[in-house]
Amino acid sequence: MDQPDEILRKVAAEVSVCQRCQLSYSRKKAVPGEGPSNAEVMFIGEGPGFYENEQGRPFVGAAGKFLDELLQRAGLKRETVFITNVVKCRPPGNRDPLPEELAACNDYLEQQIRAINPLVIVTLGRYSMARFLPNVRISDVHGKARWLDGRLVVPMFHPAAALHQPSLKSAVVEDFSKLAGYIQQARQNRHTVKDSQPVSKQESEEEEQPKPTQLSLF
Ligand code: URA
Ligand code: SF4
Repeated sequence: MDQPDEILRKVAAEVSVCQRCQLSYSRKKAVPGEGPSNAEVMFIGEGPGFYENEQGRPFVGAAGKFLDELLQRAGLKRETVFITNVVKCRPPGNRDPLPEELAACNDYLEQQIRAINPLVIVTLGRYSMARFLPNVRISDVHGKARWLDGRLVVPMFHPAAALHQPSLKSAVVEDFSKLAGYIQQARQNRHTVKDSQPVSKQESEEEEQPKPTQLSLF
C-alpha cells in the first residue's frame, strides 16, 4: 500500500486539476489542505474562501487568523495539524456547498482521513459536522467529543461565523480550550473504546445515546 505522504501528494495533485463538480469552473486554485501526514489532529472546514482560492492554502483569510489564535489557545502548533475542507474548491461568493458538490468531493477527504488516520477530527461548521454526525444540531453538540471509528470527533462552530457573533465566539473559544484534554483522552483510549461512547461520565448523563444506525458512517 502507498505511504500516507504519497497518498496525500496524489490527492493534492488530483484535486488541483479535478473537474468532478462545477466548482472547478470558477475556482482559481484548488485547496487540497495541508499538514503532516502523521498529524494527530485534523481540522475540517467548509470550503475555500476568497484568499484561500487565491493562494491554494486553507484558512489564510480572516477566519484563518482566528483559527490560528484558537490553535494557539489549545496549545497546538499549526504546522503539526492537518487542515482541510469538505469541498476543495471555492463556492462562488462563499455560498454554501451544494449536496452534489459535497458528494463529488467526498472521496478526496475520505482518502486524506484514511492516510492520516488522525486521533482527533475537529469539524468546523455544519457541513463538516454533517459528514460525520448527520441529524444533530451544532447548537446541541458543539464542543462535545464523540468516538467514531476509533477516533474522537469534536464538532465546533465555524471560526468565520464565530468572528461575527459574540455568543458563538465565546463558545468556540471555550470549546477549543477543551481540545488538549480530548487529545490526551484519545491517546490513552484509542484502542479500548467503542464507537459513539461519550468521552466522560458526565457527558453520558447529558447526552442522548445515538441510534445504532448512526454508528457506522465509514
Ligand atoms: N473557511 C473554510 O471553511 N475553509 C477555509 O479554508 C477558509 C475559510
Ligand atoms: Fe473536484 Fe472537489 Fe473541486 Fe469539485 S470541489 S472540482 S470535486 S476538487
